[in-house]
Amino acid sequence: GETRQARSTAQYRALDAAHHIHPFSDMGTLNRTGSRVITKAKGVYLWDSDGNQIIDGMAGLWCVNVGYGRKELADAAYQQIQELPFYNTFFKTTHPPVIELSALLAEITPAPFNHFFYCNSGSEGNDTVLRIAHRFWSAQGKPSKKYVISRKNGYHGSTIAGGTLGGMGYMHEQMPSKVEHIVHIDQPYFFGEAEGNLTPEEFALARAQQLEAKILELGAENVAAFIGEPFQGAGGVIFPASTYWPEIQRICRKYDILLVADEVIGGFGRTGEWFAHQHFGFEPDLMTLAKGLTSGYVPMGAVALHDRVAKVIVENGEFNHGLTYSGHPVAAAVAVANLKLLRDEKIVERVKTDTGPYFQKLLRETFANHPIIGEIAGTGLVAGLQLAEDPKARKRFANGGDVGTICRDFCFNGNLIMRATGDRMLLSPPLVITRGEIDEIVSKAKKAIDATA
Ligand code: PLP
Repeated sequence: GETRQARSTAQYRALDAAHHIHPFSDMGTLNRTGSRVITKAKGVYLWDSDGNQIIDGMAGLWCVNVGYGRKELADAAYQQIQELPFYNTFFKTTHPPVIELSALLAEITPAPFNHFFYCNSGSEGNDTVLRIAHRFWSAQGKPSKKYVISRKNGYHGSTIAGGTLGGMGYMHEQMPSKVEHIVHIDQPYFFGEAEGNLTPEEFALARAQQLEAKILELGAENVAAFIGEPFQGAGGVIFPASTYWPEIQRICRKYDILLVADEVIGGFGRTGEWFAHQHFGFEPDLMTLAKGLTSGYVPMGAVALHDRVAKVIVENGEFNHGLTYSGHPVAAAVAVANLKLLRDEKIVERVKTDTGPYFQKLLRETFANHPIIGEIAGTGLVAGLQLAEDPKARKRFANGGDVGTICRDFCFNGNLIMRATGDRMLLSPPLVITRGEIDEIVSKAKKAIDATA
């Protein structure tokens, strides 16, 4: 048989162009320019098929929290595949990896989370959230509580339900069939959307109060849940001011609405807390988990249920939802090994006390008074840099998306992976990154942003 790297870059590109449709890609353009073929990875570095070493400022897609090449995870998968590669948990069966994972998650999550439902991705997690939310209310004799409120420019995945929950206009345009009873309110994006002389705190409070207005418009008896990312990831690492989440929590409690934190990006240490809602100081009823759950080594998602929700789901007969691979033994074994690394190597603590503050301070020092950086948002090991035509006046570029793409390409050509979302440049490196590697990312980002200016 062929070895994995038997082909030249040109051969790989030709076959890729001939047979592979990439997600979220313009294939016509991509097939003319060609993809970069990533062949291996270790720590925070990737290598392409031409042997270039690239530093990964995005941890893959915000997921490789323990870094690449951890033998503990490979061993866990190898052993589990030999012992029990698959068995389902539908019909009165269970297995050790999913039991170990559930017990470990109960230990790692904040106190009221003790029950977990498994799937294969964040999108499926949010589909599951919808089923749980509807089941929760109908089992209590309130089937009219159907509406789910989410936010414009939020991202909750790309299944039909996930895409409908999300507030990405370009995804809605290509999706005529949507899930019913999902409505959106505005996002707490101060730099881009605040008008007048509002402070960030006043603006965030006003945006949170849109939830109350929407609930009153729909009637609280018709609203099941509100869902939001504690900070919007794909939407541009948008960090709401401290007034936002406590107000959202107050409103949800007042009208008896489930509060769902989509922790797919924020979970498992990204902010220096185990979960991003802990950073923002609120307590959700449901959490969507994926990505960092397995550090992306194998696909897995989950929904964590607060005791108050779990009680209703557990005590009211059959819950009609499940996936062949719910709690897949190999994914569960890898998740256990991954969570033990995060815990036992004190990786999350290090983000909070050492690498996170170092990263944030270095970014703010490096880009202080930069001619095209208007804001640096973030905490721990996640950051969003706002590109702006006039930073002091909070004036955005008219063609911000193009400027972001140019900047991203400068990074890419300089062997740094940094993502662009419109006119915001994003960083979310593996949580095992060292100070020296942070220096490398920030200096490469500076070069690219200087070149863009
Ligand atoms: N929720 C959030 C906050 C995400 O960032 C993502 C993916 O980026 C998802 C859900 C969807 O996860 P997946 O791509 O695993 O379906």
